[in-house]
Amino acid sequence: MASTRHPHFVLFPFMSKGHTIPLLHLAQLLLSRGVTITLFTTKANRPFIAHFFHRHSDSISIVDLPFPIQVEGIPQGIESTDKLPSMSFFTQFATSTKLMQPHFEQALEKIPHVTCIVSDGFLSWTLESANKFGIPRLSYFGMSGYSTAVTQQVAGNRLLSGPETDDDLIAVTGFPWIKVTRNDFDEVFHQRNPMGPQQDFVMEVIIAMANSYGQIMNSFYELEPEFLDYLNRESKAKAWSVGPLPLAVTESPPNVDQKPKWISWLDQKVAQGCSVLYVAFGSQAEISPKQLKAISNGLEESQVNFLWVVRKYETHVVDELQERVGERGMIVREWVDQLEILKHESVKGFVSHCGWNSVLESICSEVPILAWPMMADQPLNARMVVEEIKIGLRVETCDGSVKGFVTSEGLKKMVKELMEGEKGKEVRKKAKEIGEAAKEAMAEGGSSWRILTELIDDLQVVRN
Ligand code: UDP
Repeated sequence: MASTRHPHFVLFPFMSKGHTIPLLHLAQLLLSRGVTITLFTTKANRPFIAHFFHRHSDSISIVDLPFPIQVEGIPQGIESTDKLPSMSFFTQFATSTKLMQPHFEQALEKIPHVTCIVSDGFLSWTLESANKFGIPRLSYFGMSGYSTAVTQQVAGNRLLSGPETDDDLIAVTGFPWIKVTRNDFDEVFHQRNPMGPQQDFVMEVIIAMANSYGQIMNSFYELEPEFLDYLNRESKAKAWSVGPLPLAVTESPPNVDQKPKWISWLDQKVAQGCSVLYVAFGSQAEISPKQLKAISNGLEESQVNFLWVVRKYETHVVDELQERVGERGMIVREWVDQLEILKHESVKGFVSHCGWNSVLESICSEVPILAWPMMADQPLNARMVVEEIKIGLRVETCDGSVKGFVTSEGLKKMVKELMEGEKGKEVRKKAKEIGEAAKEAMAEGGSSWRILTELIDDLQVVRN
């Protein structure tokens, strides 16, 4: 029988935008289901989070912990991976989060009755804290069921040690219709390097995840039943698919009267009867100046209307592009509300690096993708998008390799195919179907709605 105690979840996102945003969406979902939330973060990340919950609610408290990072080369005050001087600092940054453990535990002690802790997979040390207090921990790891299952099979069966070249195709044990290459995986899984800090970090994450009460999946059953079933069969920690979490967003952004200039520009495009291609590569991607130039030329030559959100890149190339294309394109360097853009009725295609959040946001907005993976789980997400759920096309690289160079002609060709071609029509239709299925899954009585109810009820029994 469920306890009558009010459910109170502690959420602890990892300090990067791509890991924080989905847990903020989860917080909104839980609030809408009557759950009280305490959200842990750091001082520098607090404004981003507080902005998200700009409408005051008594049911959510935000606690910031000191982040005493001690890594040579990372200046003080950098508390988010998107601000790191280079992604080569990632493992040191992530490992440093352990220094927060005593502060986390002191704060936890003061919270009267915690139902569970949902913490990012990268914060594996939170499992030890949860165990000390007898609280169930669920890990959040922001990957699709597809890429989690495929990675587990490939790593577990040492499939990447076999092929001669990084581009040889390998059939995945358990999912023989899926063919991958070594290039689809991060170096850490290539199994040709001796164990180092990066491998140690990944092992800790995996072990803590397996020993947790469960894992929260930002996915929905109808999207990838074989892979979610596989995880529930093979993993010690049950996979609870309660998404897609972008559909949990209930609050409109603050200052709705003052539209950002890119939304006014999109409105104008609707008035002119034009459709728009949205181009964005997430919060972390590092793009070479040569590749940047090819993107600029490709967008210019494609003749489509485009909105390109650029981060971290050298600016003169994009400034010149803006001058050349005038009103046909808009280049933005500020932080945008990507979901708001994707949901805009003018947006009919998305050139994306296939970060899992971006894929889900595209699905929720029923926008097809031109997949251009760059690192981490993105190549597998791109395979899923193009080969498995068929809501997108793929950019063509010069050498056919997964992360190879894309020429301006190659980009132009695929942009035109996505926006105007027959294949574009097919994937647009499929994106609509899957987007509708996502909405059904999240609506009352849908699969994700039921799984979340079951999770809250189970935890209430465990913590009674
Ligand atoms: N995002 C955003 N505005 C920006 C850049 C990114 O809202 O200007 C959001 C995007 O909507 C997504 C997240 O940041 O929710 C990026 O996550 P994703 O998994 O797509 O990629 P990552 O940044 O982790 O590579």
